[in-house]
Amino acid sequence: MTDQAIHILGAGLSGLSAAIVLANAGKKVHVYEVRKDSGARFDGDFQGIENWTSSPDFFDEMKSWGIDPNSFKSNEFNVVDLAHPDDVITQPKTENIAFRVVERGTDEHCIDQGLKKLALEAGATIHYGSKKSPEECDIIAAGPKDSSAVAFGEIFHTDHPNHVTLQLNDKLAPGAYSYLIIIDGVGLICTCLWRQQKRSSRYLNETIAWYEEHYKLNRKPIKRVGGKGDFSLPNKYFHEGRYYVGEAGGLQDFMWGFGMRYAITSGTLAAHSILGKCDYEAEIRKRLIPLVKSSAINRFLLNRVGNRGFKLAARYWMWDQKRRGDGLAFMRRLYAPSIFRNILWPITKLSMLKRKKLDDGRVVSRMPFRKALKRDIWEPSAKAVSIGKQWDDIRKSGAKTSFTESDS
Ligand SMILES: Cc1cc2nc3c(=O)[nH]c(=O)nc-3n(C[C@H](O)[C@H](O)[C@H](O)COP(=O)(O)OP(=O)(O)OC[C@H]3O[C@@H](n4cnc5c(N)ncnc54)[C@H](O)[C@@H]3O)c2cc1C
Repeated sequence: MTDQAIHILGAGLSGLSAAIVLANAGKKVHVYEVRKDSGARFDGDFQGIENWTSSPDFFDEMKSWGIDPNSFKSNEFNVVDLAHPDDVITQPKTENIAFRVVERGTDEHCIDQGLKKLALEAGATIHYGSKKSPEECDIIAAGPKDSSAVAFGEIFHTDHPNHVTLQLNDKLAPGAYSYLIIIDGVGLICTCLWRQQKRSSRYLNETIAWYEEHYKLNRKPIKRVGGKGDFSLPNKYFHEGRYYVGEAGGLQDFMWGFGMRYAITSGTLAAHSILGKCDYEAEIRKRLIPLVKSSAINRFLLNRVGNRGFKLAARYWMWDQKRRGDGLAFMRRLYAPSIFRNILWPITKLSMLKRKKLDDGRVVSRMPFRKALKRDIWEPSAKAVSIGKQWDDIRKSGAKTSFTESDS
């Protein structure tokens, strides 16, 4: 053990995971966070930690790394409503845990605060509201830089029981999907835009109108939230003595935008590498890059289809569930290596990703924010217009919008 302190840029999931593992191993750890608190990048929105890309249950994996998943609130799900583009609703399900919903933000039960507590208990020092140059840090865990896609959501009170719906709909969520998550009386309706749009709030209003039509929500809006995702594959994960982890290392699923599992895993692996237990670059390439590449190929295929393709995918998913008796088998197969994917990778790289040299000298193949298509322009429904007006009134009386078009 050396006395030399480890400096980490960013007190989000990846940075805090690294801090917990290092501090528990007796290292002196300093974490520098530009915002006032961990989780402040998000504002109480729900996110799902997937449990299908790798075989160990993720919470068991976290426990084996010394990161206690009981330090934050989570709700397990083994079933979702799947809304097809033609509004048919079916239910993929599994006997195991498919995913867990956690809250992101600064409240005590949020995952960001749970990991912060563990890092502090382990002896790490966190400097909030501080600026530190990346050159002075060993681990770069500062989240996304550019935008490849954005998500907009509304958080509301509801009396609907706990529930998750995933909707594949190219009109309401251009090139992507929308979702409804309800946990203990609080709901989130979110739409993801993988094509850049003007007046993005109309997509959220129309999406809310859709969910209101299909579920008894008794919705009472609280606030509007959102964020951007940066999808890129760098040429290096360890560069000039620094470890790039989480979204700062481009470790995010190109297909669904999931990144929490990769953030916690990569933060832990960087810490293990510093402790001499593994080679970070090699471990990331072995464990995570095949998954990220598969997700990029899936995204490349998805970018080619509209609602007709989404419908086919949803039907195939249900057919596969009937055949195998497990709805998660389809999700797992989306990430499995295959000759078909190997052939598609160079095509995906060439036609979907653009090379960019970053200020720190790394070269990334990143997915640019795609342009809007003609079919993205449509007249909003009367219901969506009234939802937009309802939000304007609530906003004027003091409700918060924590992410706007200009943030992307
Ligand atoms: C709207 C939305 C919904 C999402 N939903 C899901 C989901 O359902 N499931 C899922 O798995 N993933 C989801 N993601 C992705 C997930 O949030 C990220 O992949 C994950 O948070 C990445 O962790 P990280 O540690 O890299 O970044 P973060 O957890 O964001 O932490 C980065 C930290 O670095 C700080 N920082 C930034 N710049 C600096 C700087 N210069 N100096 C110091 N600190 C800095 C930030 O303030 C932040 O606290 C979603 C993302 C968005 C935007």
